[in-house]
Amino acid sequence: MLTTTDHSRDSAGLSYVYPVISRRSGGLSIGINLNPNNACNWRCIYCQVPDLIRGTSPEINLQQLQKELDEFLNDVINGDFYDRYEVAEDLRTIKDIAISGNGESTSAAEFDQVIKLIAHSMSRFTLQDKIKLVLITNGSLAHKEIVQSGLETMNSNNGEVWFKLDSGTDAGLKNINNAGLSIERVKENLKIVSALCPTWLQTCVFKLDGELPSRNECESYLKFLSCLEDENIKVNGVLLYGLARPSMQIEAPRLSPVSEAWMDKFAEEIKQLGFKTKISH
Ligand code: SF4
Repeated sequence: MLTTTDHSRDSAGLSYVYPVISRRSGGLSIGINLNPNNACNWRCIYCQVPDLIRGTSPEINLQQLQKELDEFLNDVINGDFYDRYEVAEDLRTIKDIAISGNGESTSAAEFDQVIKLIAHSMSRFTLQDKIKLVLITNGSLAHKEIVQSGLETMNSNNGEVWFKLDSGTDAGLKNINNAGLSIERVKENLKIVSALCPTWLQTCVFKLDGELPSRNECESYLKFLSCLEDENIKVNGVLLYGLARPSMQIEAPRLSPVSEAWMDKFAEEIKQLGFKTKISH
């Protein structure tokens, strides 16, 4: 049985394609994992990927990915997928295809071809106007041509990017994401991505060693948001997350959730700046 909490990347026994039933989204999200090697160019301390290593996606077998995706879609649309996995009646609908792997998906050398391939499958099953094509990314490879080309294809196929932003400071990026780039560079990446495809910011908040994010951190984050309009950077809004699933990193024992009240208050501050905000406690 596929439960609403089963996010396992191999729950359908495939290499690249995995199903997630989500009560929050109200249906089935079809995940695409371009990092079966658990490799990412960042190492976020809350990352839920087990055995995470630094690196990039391995070579993607495009034929296999296409076959897996088409067979999976066929099983869901024309087969008995929902019955076999005992999916609740009210969740038997495809909500999106989400490129969300065990690492940074845009590091795949075939990223643009992958997006074309997914778009092709969406068209074959007449899904392109019915579901979203979501990319979850840290945005750090936005300067690459193949990433930009992939984003353009996403844009013409109901695409949406969820761009990771966990801090508004250089120190925060280093401490939370172990990312070797500055907040100015993050802003440049965001500018590139959001100009090519509709973009939401995705932000994870938590306590570290029992301490809430400092006021300085929160204010820097809010300042980052408030400067976007002046720089002609348009985002759809902010997806604010708590610690939904346990970290698989060495820092896991140091992390704990913030209270719902704290998160609601922070969300309110974001809304005050004119950003739509969706909270996931
Ligand atoms: S960017 Fe995503 S996959 Fe990479 S370390 Fe951070 S949370 Fe994990």
